[in-house]
Amino acid sequence: MKDIYLYNSISNNLEKFVPLKEGKVSLYVCGPTVYNEPHIGNLRPPIVFDVLFRFLTYLGNDVTYVSNYTDVDDKIINRAKELNVEPLKLSSFYIEEFKKMREKMNILPPTYTPKVSEHIPDIIAYIEKLIELGYAYVNDGDVYFSVDKIKDYLLLSKMRKEDLIAGARIEVNEKKRSPLDFALWKKTDENFNWASPWSKGRPGWHTECVVFIDEIFKAQDGLIDIHGGGFDLKFPHHDNEMAQALAMHAHHLAHYWMHNGFITFGNDEKMSKSLGNVITISDALKFYEPNVLRTFILSSSYRAPISYNEINLINAKNNFEKIDHTYHALSLRLLFLDDDLNYEKSDAIEDFIDALKDDLNTPNAYKAIFDLTKEINTYLHRGLDDVNTLKNYYARLKTMLDILGYAMHTPNVSNEDKLLYNSYITAKKNKDFARSDALRNELLKKGLY
Ligand SMILES: [Zn+2]
Repeated sequence: MKDIYLYNSISNNLEKFVPLKEGKVSLYVCGPTVYNEPHIGNLRPPIVFDVLFRFLTYLGNDVTYVSNYTDVDDKIINRAKELNVEPLKLSSFYIEEFKKMREKMNILPPTYTPKVSEHIPDIIAYIEKLIELGYAYVNDGDVYFSVDKIKDYLLLSKMRKEDLIAGARIEVNEKKRSPLDFALWKKTDENFNWASPWSKGRPGWHTECVVFIDEIFKAQDGLIDIHGGGFDLKFPHHDNEMAQALAMHAHHLAHYWMHNGFITFGNDEKMSKSLGNVITISDALKFYEPNVLRTFILSSSYRAPISYNEINLINAKNNFEKIDHTYHALSLRLLFLDDDLNYEKSDAIEDFIDALKDDLNTPNAYKAIFDLTKEINTYLHRGLDDVNTLKNYYARLKTMLDILGYAMHTPNVSNEDKLLYNSYITAKKNKDFARSDALRNELLKKGLY
């Protein structure tokens, strides 16, 4: 059996995947800041890691998958002010929107989806511990993390401290000892705040994920197997998460750090609200069904950037339609033969599995799907209908489509339809071509051929 390899952003290399505990996998993916409607750029991490979640589960692992909602943040406060609503009302509205989007896109719900607003005491306790250990300091109601205390700082982004200090990537703040220090707690006069030993305020963004991981994976000392997120999170978010885990537990928070590429738009610019080129998922769904958007995202390696443009979307649509066409024809043939389409997951899909074991190589996984659909189409066109062969094809195809997270539409077939189909087969067998053609046209009209 082939091993699983994942590209680890710590080493920038493919590494053999060995979980901390055999048969168990802990996976954490940074979730969205919930202050506006989910857009296409938000779609890639949930889809990519949905496939990883499904795939590792298929291989027999018990996967604990955690993805948070950032519901305390400046962006939320500002938007709430604009709209004159309570910040938590705004964020809970968009959390519901994200949940609906996940459902529409057939993305499995993670095992846990913690929210910042429900864990403020845990975050405060964590920050207190960092101060106690000498890694954080208080200044005028704010608390900062002292990055100079961490030898391995910037292990993910591989940036140099000198360059960061010289560059404009960090804000200058008089309260910090070093310009690279980041806020763990911010004093605020805004109404949206919580009492703490230091001030009325709220947590900085980088602490929530390490706190959730610490709580949920306490038994393994806050160390998990895989930490994922968008490429743009490497710095500062992930480097800062790792710095806190190094301070607290002297480990890297995760053994494997996986980062997905951007979804770009038009002339390859990043899709973002500030550039005004945001396409919401509900707008995209007006033109392309969920399975097409999923195909668009999975057609490239998860690490490569992908461009949301008409050519790529039409390619995705064509590719999905090819798969769907075969799935539809195969299901029909089985239904006409009185099969119930219940299937056992198949393990006779080695090429497909090997592709995904190779750092989740979804483009090669599609090659395996198309090899199989070709074989199925040939079989169907020859008019062969051995139930066991068809069932075996169905189990293989359906297993692959399930791992990639497709929600397939299965046709409904009535008794009348079955009679029609059987008359067609009889006419064909009797070489009564005029009649078989007429019956086939009828089947076609009903979408049953
Ligand atoms: Zn995070």
